[in-house]
Amino acid sequence: MDRREFLKYCGKISLLFTGSLLFAEDIARAFVKIAEGAVNILWLQGQACSGDSVSLLYGDSPEVPELITSIINLRFHPVVSVAQGELVMRIINQELKNKDYILCFEGAVPYKMLGACKIGEFYLTEILKKAISSSIAVVAVGTCSSYGGIPAANKETGAISVVEFMKREGLNKPYVRLPGCPTNSIRVTGTVAYIVAFEKLPALDTDNRPILYYPDVIHNNCQRFQYFSQDRYITDYNQKRGCLFKMGCRGPITKADCPLRRYNRNTSWCVDANGPCIGCANPKFPWPAETGIYTDPNRIK
Ligand code: SF4
Ligand code: SF4
Repeated sequence: MDRREFLKYCGKISLLFTGSLLFAEDIARAFVKIAEGAVNILWLQGQACSGDSVSLLYGDSPEVPELITSIINLRFHPVVSVAQGELVMRIINQELKNKDYILCFEGAVPYKMLGACKIGEFYLTEILKKAISSSIAVVAVGTCSSYGGIPAANKETGAISVVEFMKREGLNKPYVRLPGCPTNSIRVTGTVAYIVAFEKLPALDTDNRPILYYPDVIHNNCQRFQYFSQDRYITDYNQKRGCLFKMGCRGPITKADCPLRRYNRNTSWCVDANGPCIGCANPKFPWPAETGIYTDPNRIK
C-alpha cells in the first residue's frame, strides 16, 4: 500500500468517527504506533465458526496482507497466523507479560464444557482470564462474543459471551461490543484504530456498542422503508419490490449500520440481496424457537 492509499484509509476512518477529515493524521499516527509494536493486537477465539475472521479477510481497503503485516501488529490470530504449537504459546505468553495489547475475542466462551476449547494444554478459560487481565481493552468481535450467539442458543451448552465471562470472573476492563454474525470488518479495524489514536473507547451506547456502527434500528435507514410506509410487502421471494417485514425481517428491532456500510467491501447487505434481516446483531439472536429466524412477526403470538 502506498502512502496515498494509507492516508485515504485513515481519512475514511476519521470521517466515519468524527465526521471530519481533521483527525486523519491522528489515525495515521495510531497505525504507525501499532506497526512499530507500541500496541499489539492479540486475537483469541472461543466457540466460533470463524465468520468474523473471514469477514475481516474480506475487509474494505486496505487489503488484508497490508492490514496484518504493516498496519495492525497482529501478534497472533488463530485463523490467519501460520504459527503453530510451541511458538503460539511463546507468542501468547510474551503478550501476557508485555501487557500492551488490545484483545480481540471472537466466539463464545465454553463456561460449562471447559474442554470444548483449549490452547495447548490449557483450557481457553484459563488463558482468557489472564489475557483479559493483561490487556488494555477488550473488543468483543461478533455476536457470540458480545451476547453468546449461536453457541449459547441452547442453554445446556453453558456457552456465554466474553462480556458475561468478565462479569462472572470479576474482570474489570474497558470493553466494546461489536455484534453481527459476522460483524463487518470496518467495525473492527475502525474501533481498534480509534482506541489507539485517542487512547480511549469510542462513544458507546448503553450496551457498549459504538454509536457510529450501531446508530439506529436498521429499519430507519433501510432502502425499502418507503415500501413499508406504503404497506407493500413481499410474501414470496420471487417478488423483488416490497418490504420484507412479512418474511420475518428483524430490521425494525435490530440496531446496526448494515444499510449504511454494507458488507464485503461495500458490495451488498441482506435486504439488498432480497433477504430479510434476521437480526444477527440483536442481543436476542438466534431467537427462541417459537419466534424462529424467518417467522412473520404478525404470526408470533
Ligand atoms: S425490509 Fe426490513 S428493514 Fe427494510 S423497511 Fe422492511 S421491515 Fe424495515
Ligand atoms: S441486516 Fe440484519 S441479518 Fe443482515 S448483517 Fe445486518 S443485522 Fe445481520
